[in-house]
Amino acid sequence: PFYAGSGLDVWTMMNQAAAEVGAVNLGQGFMSFPPQCFIRRAAQEALDQNVHNQYAPPRGRPALLEQIAARFSPRLGRQLDQASEISVHAGANEALLSVFTAFLTHGQDHEVILMEPAFDQYAPNIAMAGGKPVYVPLRVLAAADKVISSDDWKIDMAELEAAVSPKTRIIVLNTPHNPVGKVFTRDELAQIGAISERHNLLILADEVYEHLTYGRDHVSIASLPRMWERTVTVGSAGKLLGVTGWRVGWAIGPRALIQPTLAAHTRIVFTTNTPLQEGVASAMRQAVSNGFYEAQRQEYERRRNRLMEIFDDVGLPYVVPDGAYYLLVNASAVRVPQDYLFPEAISSRGPNFRLAYFFIREFGVSGIPPAEFYCEPHRYLAGDYVRFAFCKTDEGLDAAAVALQKLK
Ligand code: GLN
Repeated sequence: PFYAGSGLDVWTMMNQAAAEVGAVNLGQGFMSFPPQCFIRRAAQEALDQNVHNQYAPPRGRPALLEQIAARFSPRLGRQLDQASEISVHAGANEALLSVFTAFLTHGQDHEVILMEPAFDQYAPNIAMAGGKPVYVPLRVLAAADKVISSDDWKIDMAELEAAVSPKTRIIVLNTPHNPVGKVFTRDELAQIGAISERHNLLILADEVYEHLTYGRDHVSIASLPRMWERTVTVGSAGKLLGVTGWRVGWAIGPRALIQPTLAAHTRIVFTTNTPLQEGVASAMRQAVSNGFYEAQRQEYERRRNRLMEIFDDVGLPYVVPDGAYYLLVNASAVRVPQDYLFPEAISSRGPNFRLAYFFIREFGVSGIPPAEFYCEPHRYLAGDYVRFAFCKTDEGLDAAAVALQKLK
């Protein structure tokens, strides 16, 4: 199967290519700055308690379930029951796999609708669970040779509905969206919700960037009328606290959906690591009162503005992100020479990979080729975009600014 093929995942591939030449790494979305002191201390203190070094319950440590319920009850517009409506996972990624495993059946040709560009882990996770992804691309309703808004990337709702078949089980919705930075509006969510109701589908809402929006409100689709019953909302402590290596995430939904998700989780990893669940719980408790979340949001907004300025300066247009921490840059003005030498692993994956690699070798800055976020027949839609992450230090962004001067 394709998920077990010999091809490297895009993250490892671009990290390696960047490391070879010491490029500024704006590729994979990990933070290049350390987590806040109180967050690291929370984990250290957790390790010092003997009980936190043994198995956690499969559903998760009560202290963390309590914090998740406290944060998300207002966001989802209901009092969450931590005993039945939340499960803790080994990262949001494993939460996604657990949901797919719970609701897709091998041999039944169950289908899952993805909106492209779609985070690269969805499709292989669906395949591992025995399902088949069906792709509906976001359409760009503006001329991309200028700076455009992430709002210009739209789902054609008729196209979305036409993609539904009797085998469809799930629609995956990612808001704020990686890599576009689109924050779906309440109206868009209502339309997607209406389609899910008409065809009795589940919504898997990947909302791992819910805390990072810029001048926009994030709306959880599960908070819309009648949507709670058919939605599993996935979140991430790695994203929320800037600790992507901790691998702690969660799924939230009605008992009927979380029970099978938890059953899958129990068979995939059994439980999520205990000390870091406790660390996350303690950090989330402190973050409520120490102003961390708003300070962090402002920091990201500042980094976003800085990265946009850098590309304004060198004259490459981009999509203004209203959420998450990625900038899609349109590099069609960059000419890759016909005879440029690429390693086979890069050249075989098409022009968008070659462009991202060219950025690494010639400008010393690495990004991610969004072609990886499209199915094969739709790869051309990645055009000349390269995705740059701004969850990076000021020094990193400054170094990128200097390196990119070569574009002038
Ligand atoms: N979510 C992060 C990104 O999009 C990292 C994903 C990963 O490494 N699997 O960059």
